[in-house]
Amino acid sequence: MPYEKELAAAKKAVTLAARLCQKVQKALLQSDVHSKSDKSPVTVADYGSQALVSFILERELPSESFSLVAEEDSGDLRKESGQDTLNRITELVNDTLASEGSNSFSTLTTDDVLVAIDSGKSEGGSVGRHWVLDPIDGTKGFVRGDQYAIALALLHEGKIVLGVLACPNLPLASIGSNQQHSSSNEVGCLFFAKVGDGTYMQALGGSTQTRVHVCDIDNPEEASFFESFEAAHSLHDLSSSIAEVKLGVKAPPVRIDSQAKYGALSRGDGAIYLRFPHRGYREKIWDHAAGSIVVTEAGGIAMDAAGNPLDFSKGKFLDVVSGIIVTNQKLMPSLLTAVKEALNEKASSL
Ligand code: AMP
Ligand code: MG
Repeated sequence: MPYEKELAAAKKAVTLAARLCQKVQKALLQSDVHSKSDKSPVTVADYGSQALVSFILERELPSESFSLVAEEDSGDLRKESGQDTLNRITELVNDTLASEGSNSFSTLTTDDVLVAIDSGKSEGGSVGRHWVLDPIDGTKGFVRGDQYAIALALLHEGKIVLGVLACPNLPLASIGSNQQHSSSNEVGCLFFAKVGDGTYMQALGGSTQTRVHVCDIDNPEEASFFESFEAAHSLHDLSSSIAEVKLGVKAPPVRIDSQAKYGALSRGDGAIYLRFPHRGYREKIWDHAAGSIVVTEAGGIAMDAAGNPLDFSKGKFLDVVSGIIVTNQKLMPSLLTAVKEALNEKASSL
């Protein structure tokens, strides 16, 4: 089966990185107000997650040439002022590897950690294979104690062929705005998808996997929609004019951080995800690579606001027209029309 061993390695890497992030978030939330405004815990988790994913992928797939496009590089950690942080990261990475329980466990030095982080310097592109990683997507949510994700995908000849999304704080039960209260309040989901093979979800750290599908709602009035928690990341007014005014969506928006939105959509918690960054912002491939395959293999579609497919083959940036919209096959035509009308109205009102 194509990409079988890559998927197994990616799941292992992301699961361990999620464990590291959970440990840091727990300590962060227990700390006092003063240290909560300190940016270093998220920095430590960000670098630690990237080092772990990079190390595990190279260890599990030794015969392949390794290219990783990722958000962080080790520049600051190599400075004198970065020494303490580097030591904390190294300790955290080693503790997490030790918890893996494998016999092949080897202790990493600070240099090993720097090398692992710097493997993420690739630029991606349309030739060959590149891993694409967001070590912590939704850092704002991470710091608040809300949603965040570890998002890893494989780009092959310009197409995303697999994706793994760990959402440590996402409930296993649906979070859609129309949902009844669930008896389960267990959190921690792992979504994964391989091209042509569907999307699956399992409990993070569990082993029972369930195939998931986007919802099959075709009446927009029954739909609910997701968007960024942060108004700075997406125009909430515009999405409300599209969803509520144009489409007649009745439910209030579900606002959560990170690619957890794609995960939730892939299992039908809601029907639509709208993302309209403020003018001038350029999307990065690691913010959408894993999420988009998780949704498309579950039967959904992700496009830019003009109806173009997302093109991950152009390097680090994902150049999109106006924004990103995601929904099921039935709703996409009316969503595209609504988006076009709302964007035209916005342009003529300027
Ligand atoms: P979300 O939680 O869905 O809002 O997305 C989080 C991601 O948004 C982060 O990983 C950032 O890469 C990205 N981001 C950062 N600044 C902006 C911005 N001004 N507009 C849109 N996205 C942003
Ligand atoms: Mg991100």
